[in-house]
Amino acid sequence: MRFSDTLIPTLKEAPAGAEIASHVLLVRGGFIRRLASGSYNWLPLGLRVLKNIERIAREELKRAGAQEILMPVVQPAELWRDSGRWDVMGPELLRLADRHGREYCLSPTQEEVVTDLVRRTVFSYRQLPCNLYHIQTKFRDEIRPRFGLMRAREFIMKDGYSFHLDEPSFERAYAAMHECYSRILERMGLRFRAVEADAGTIGDGESHEFHVLADSGEDTLVYSPASDYAANLDTVPAPALPDEPDAAGAEQLAMRKVPTPNAGTIDAVATLLDVPAARCVKTLIVYAEEGGLAALVLRGDHQLNEAKASRLAGIRRPFGFADEAQVRAELGVGVGSIGPVGLGLPLVVDGSAAALAHFVCGANEGGQHYTGVRWARDVGEVRVADIRNAVPGDTAPDGSGPLAFTRGIEVGHIFKLGTKYTQAMDVAVQDADGKGVAPLMGCYGFGISRMVAAVAEQSHDDDGIVWPPAVAPFDVHIVALNNIRSSAVSRTAATLHEALEAAGLETLLDDRDERPGVKFADADLIGIPHRVTVGERGLKDGVVEYRRRTGGEVERLRPEEIAPKLAAMIRPAA
Ligand code: ATP
Ligand code: MG
Repeated sequence: MRFSDTLIPTLKEAPAGAEIASHVLLVRGGFIRRLASGSYNWLPLGLRVLKNIERIAREELKRAGAQEILMPVVQPAELWRDSGRWDVMGPELLRLADRHGREYCLSPTQEEVVTDLVRRTVFSYRQLPCNLYHIQTKFRDEIRPRFGLMRAREFIMKDGYSFHLDEPSFERAYAAMHECYSRILERMGLRFRAVEADAGTIGDGESHEFHVLADSGEDTLVYSPASDYAANLDTVPAPALPDEPDAAGAEQLAMRKVPTPNAGTIDAVATLLDVPAARCVKTLIVYAEEGGLAALVLRGDHQLNEAKASRLAGIRRPFGFADEAQVRAELGVGVGSIGPVGLGLPLVVDGSAAALAHFVCGANEGGQHYTGVRWARDVGEVRVADIRNAVPGDTAPDGSGPLAFTRGIEVGHIFKLGTKYTQAMDVAVQDADGKGVAPLMGCYGFGISRMVAAVAEQSHDDDGIVWPPAVAPFDVHIVALNNIRSSAVSRTAATLHEALEAAGLETLLDDRDERPGVKFADADLIGIPHRVTVGERGLKDGVVEYRRRTGGEVERLRPEEIAPKLAAMIRPAA
């Protein structure tokens, strides 16, 4: 492909609002262009990367025994009512109506549609197991689309669904998908980690996420260096830490109200009263079910985990902090001065806060706190639950030692759904005894378009993207220097281009009328793994220059040596 025949609109400047490297480099390199918030045009280079990722995914899914189908993007609302999710999904689900006033949504995922398909086509145990997937456009009206392809509103997902009559058959498919996702990521040459995860609104069973490791990742991953325990922060049980030894003698303490003017934060209160933040508690007001309020109490040095809180019975799903004005109206005090003593709301206390022998808390009065508060004496019976984020140093749930933290980009998620959907949607498959049973179901998502960003995020340097060979938009980039003025250069470059393509290598020839500096900068930015530079000076010695995008030495080779050498290196089996 000649540069002058395609559309690669590279940019010198980063696009406005781009916060992470992959977003900056994919736009600057002319891979994608924004259309609207969270939606992007795929330009020729970007589409090539996307198609490479799809191809690898298809090859590995075939090996895992999954069959490709294609389901519609516009889905009838009635299926979502059948499954009970029409009301649970909230505003992420983009709803629309047709000319007859019938309701639809744009596909955020496909459990309903595939389950409906199965209930109308699979009747006998002889048809099971069955493992179906498609690669399709998804739409989720994300509250905060950002990071380019990473958290888009319109994106491309591979989503797969399997159906089974019995547990062993299901477990085999789940293991095969786990292996399949690992292989996809290994083939792309990425550092990744599979972790235990939270099933969110999709299911209630076990699930695993696959993360590409990157500091800019939105997810916190927690692992034990001493074992193979690894989980998403949202699923890591945080231990209830015992109180410090200085709590001895707490029984003698009286509860005392002390003035704390202008101390609006835990740190300010702790400094003012000269106590550790760990001995202060914070009280967060959130929405309970049916519009009411509830209070969540944590140690001052701990952070609430919203996913854990949203799993509590009695707490509204989706989870939300109460509006400040509503709190003031109902409790008569601002959020900075609230405490559990005499609050009059349902309370959930984190295990480590509940273990405090005495503590400091807001007095439900502006500018006042209580010290020396004791749970049983001053607050009464409370509900205790794990609602905090685990922190580095907490003991791993498997007891193997202290936890360590890293960050990841979630690119895949596999779930054990059990019969949640097949039961809700009345799927009945006859087993060998002629009895109708609801099959077990698994679902397996993989973010194809997010993957493009994840690869760029993990594999780039200051000059641009460094594509792993398996997904690179081209194999070889020929930089022709001063080709417009030098017929020797343009002829040699054209011959090389033909020879490389004839050898089965995808080749981009930069034949533009641009200065060498511009061409080199664009070659680094675009990030094709192998580069051949053709210039007049080299040709006088009968050579062209070869180097890798990853760096290393420049090799001077005769032009006719290039295609056989690169073909042997890039496609050794061919
Ligand atoms: P997240 O926690 O990142 O919102 P999710 O749990 O909502 O992800 P799933 O419903 O499991 O995601 O979707 C499967 C895969 O689809 C994810 O692993 C991810 O790779 C991809 N994906 C999800 N949301 C987006 C998005 N807004 N933009 C791009 N890819 C996405
Ligand atoms: Mg999501």
